[in-house]
Amino acid sequence: MAKVSLKKIERIAGLSKADLHVHLVDGDPDDLLNYVQEKTDLNVIALTDHDSIGNALKVKKAWWGMGYRFDLIVGEEINSAEGHIVGLFLNKTIEPHLSVQETIRQIHEQGGLAIAAHPFQAMSVRRPGVVLMDGIGLKPLLKFGKQLDGIEVVNATPTLKDENLRASLVNKTILLKAEIGSSDAHIPEAIGRGYTVFKGENAQDLRKAINLCQTQAIYSGWNFFVLIKYFFFFLPEGLRIAAYNLTHILRKSKVKNQKSKIKSQKYKSKIKSYL
Ligand SMILES: [Zn+2]
Ligand SMILES: [Zn+2]
Repeated sequence: MAKVSLKKIERIAGLSKADLHVHLVDGDPDDLLNYVQEKTDLNVIALTDHDSIGNALKVKKAWWGMGYRFDLIVGEEINSAEGHIVGLFLNKTIEPHLSVQETIRQIHEQGGLAIAAHPFQAMSVRRPGVVLMDGIGLKPLLKFGKQLDGIEVVNATPTLKDENLRASLVNKTILLKAEIGSSDAHIPEAIGRGYTVFKGENAQDLRKAINLCQTQAIYSGWNFFVLIKYFFFFLPEGLRIAAYNLTHILRKSKVKNQKSKIKSQKYKSKIKSYL
């Protein structure tokens, strides 16, 4: 039997893709929206900046009335006392540093969905001014997991392979909640590197699928240049500029190599035509 691609299954089975953990940080809302529109096949994204729905509302305003083919969910990645919780379908900001239980309660109170973000991530580098990227960890996950709506078992941050496996194990054997795949993108090119598959086509279908635990988390991988860009995004500004220059030089030399390859192929076929 011929190999069936994931894309074909998704299309024929009426499945759609959502990236439910995307950051704008200090980026431009229109750049982000245009990237999703033109460079991805996502049907839903959630804007989930840290500890405020301000940026999500800003992006929603830019999205509104522009005829984009994808839905946009207003969300927030809340730095609870134990670690990060993503709230989806929010209409007001939930304050950070509340307990996990209280954070989940406040998300539900406003009709939102609560997702444990990268539950086993423990960030070892702590710099002033940088929001820590810790997950809630095993004990709170076991204690309050039943109150959550979904568990992020794929977070496409390149260093989280083992942590994702652990989250998947706990969810598949104990919690049995909707599995969520997300990019945790901090630059547009990272959007869609992890995603959630669901039956239907819009944000409301996705919500139903999460409630019924009928979702699948997928990791779609990285390419080399985006990976370099992404790693350096998290470094101080000076190193970031150096990284930008480095990728620029590498890109240029790649294009140069391709050009000379094409040139030599053209030359070879020209010679052949004389023989
Ligand atoms: Zn986080
Ligand atoms: Zn995040």
